[in-house]
Amino acid sequence: GEMVDNCVRTHGAKSAFSCVLPTGHSHTMSYTELGEYSDAVAAYLREELGLKPGDVVAIQSPNTLAYPVLAFGIMKAGLVITNVNPLYTPDETNHQLKDSGAKVWFVIDVFGDRVQESIKDTSVSRIYPISLVDFFPGMKRHLLGFALKYIKKAVPDFGAEKAGSIHGVIRKGRKHLAAGANIAAYREGAGLDDVAIFQYTGGTTGRSKGAELTHRNVVGNISQANHREGAFKAQPDDALMLILPLYHVYALAVGAINSMHLGIHVVLVPVPRPLSNLKPVFENFDITIMPGVNTLYLGLMQEKWFTSMPPSSLRLCMSGAAPLQPATADAWEKLTGAPIYEGYGLTEGTCVVASMPLDQPPRRGTCGRPIPGTEVRIVGEDGKDRPRGEPGELWLRGPQIMKGYLNNPEATDEAINDGWLRTGDVAIFDEEGYLSIVDRMKDMVIVSGFNVFPTDIEDVLTRFDRVAEAAVVGAPDDETGEKVVAYIVKADQDLTDDEVIRHCREHLTGYKVPKTVCFVDELPKSPVGKVLRRELRDMAASI
Ligand code: ATP
Repeated sequence: GEMVDNCVRTHGAKSAFSCVLPTGHSHTMSYTELGEYSDAVAAYLREELGLKPGDVVAIQSPNTLAYPVLAFGIMKAGLVITNVNPLYTPDETNHQLKDSGAKVWFVIDVFGDRVQESIKDTSVSRIYPISLVDFFPGMKRHLLGFALKYIKKAVPDFGAEKAGSIHGVIRKGRKHLAAGANIAAYREGAGLDDVAIFQYTGGTTGRSKGAELTHRNVVGNISQANHREGAFKAQPDDALMLILPLYHVYALAVGAINSMHLGIHVVLVPVPRPLSNLKPVFENFDITIMPGVNTLYLGLMQEKWFTSMPPSSLRLCMSGAAPLQPATADAWEKLTGAPIYEGYGLTEGTCVVASMPLDQPPRRGTCGRPIPGTEVRIVGEDGKDRPRGEPGELWLRGPQIMKGYLNNPEATDEAINDGWLRTGDVAIFDEEGYLSIVDRMKDMVIVSGFNVFPTDIEDVLTRFDRVAEAAVVGAPDDETGEKVVAYIVKADQDLTDDEVIRHCREHLTGYKVPKTVCFVDELPKSPVGKVLRRELRDMAASI
């Protein structure tokens, strides 16, 4: 809350957030507007609904203008946010609403008829539909009527008086402000060690777990990430394009919270697919910063409109959340002139753990150095620290490490010991203090007793120019215990499995070479763009 107020004081009329619709229409909100709207949201939640510190408010939305207004409003009100994946099924939504104990639910309107199932047996007593065009001029009256009709139809026994539009929230909040509501006092109810966000993990390896991130975690991570000067230092006219979904910790931290701290203009893309939706973004805004993931960079390099005129304004690209393939990084830098800085982070570490601030050129194959205040251990299977340069499980300690998992003391005890978080990732910490992520421990394949890391093989496969994308998993094998199975999206339709295997033999030792090659049209991915190896593992097991 304080951060947004500071930004409003410093940047005022400067653009804070823009939103670009698939039609190419866009609308921009200044820092002053963001400050006023989020004040109104805070006043509404505290005065009109009577929520108290510790109460939880859920946001389930793509990257709309309403998202930052609500998120900063909830923080200003001293309440707890939980971000819900807008692509969730009602069952998954219901789990998170129940688990987090959310009392208020702001939800993207496309959820229509699925609302009833989502709120079953939860503490949700108020629902507010969000729309892609909230805050766009001329939409207010239309939306108010629409929202009420929508809820009445979707949840007949819920009562229309318990629902409303964002427009109504702002209008009523403003009345409370005019009547003297004291926003600054709301903060006093929420201490540094109280939870600010129940942030659910990406769900890549299983059902998402709720990480309890405190105000200290959030503020600590921002100050750690901005401790040094470097390429990431914001310039007055920087514009950051945010395609990654705000509900995920990477976009939330880098694209919203950290950007507000730096006073950057963030251009939100609510509907990122098809990638041609990004054309008007590059045409109308001089995008200088782009957080992304490997899949996104690859995808853009397959778009003719992009490759024929790559944006000259780009100066800084980031990659995190999943491995950045060297072949992708090279091709991207050659095309755009902008290097990709790879970082490492995780929900349990409030997002950024290594790489930012970017005070040195990216070192390919690593994700940079741990940010200041982060202690690192690389631990072997015997529980002892591994020598520098040797792989082992990455353990982390620092101000950004979560308090624990919500409603899950066993998982918390397993994950955190004496302040050290066991990340479940295999990493190497080299002599010069650079961190490389080898792979997830859960994805390791054991072939005849040898440890095989899928990322190693994927790097070799994606260096083959006849392969567009590749993912590797293990499957049971009578002879070797487990075998390596490669799933491949072809770049050249004539490619055969023999040719793939021959390419691998040239670059990999025998036991790492895939025994089975499967060609697929696309790889299963999470909404953030991470390959879902667990789905491929299920497929491979039934081959
Ligand atoms: P879940 O924990 O629910 O299975 P998740 O692990 O995807 O999902 P996130 O917090 O979104 O949850 O992602 C953190 C994980 O992403 C890290 O533990 C690591 O495995 C992976 N990751 C992050 N950055 C990188 C990177 N630069 N290279 C490789 N992997 C990365």
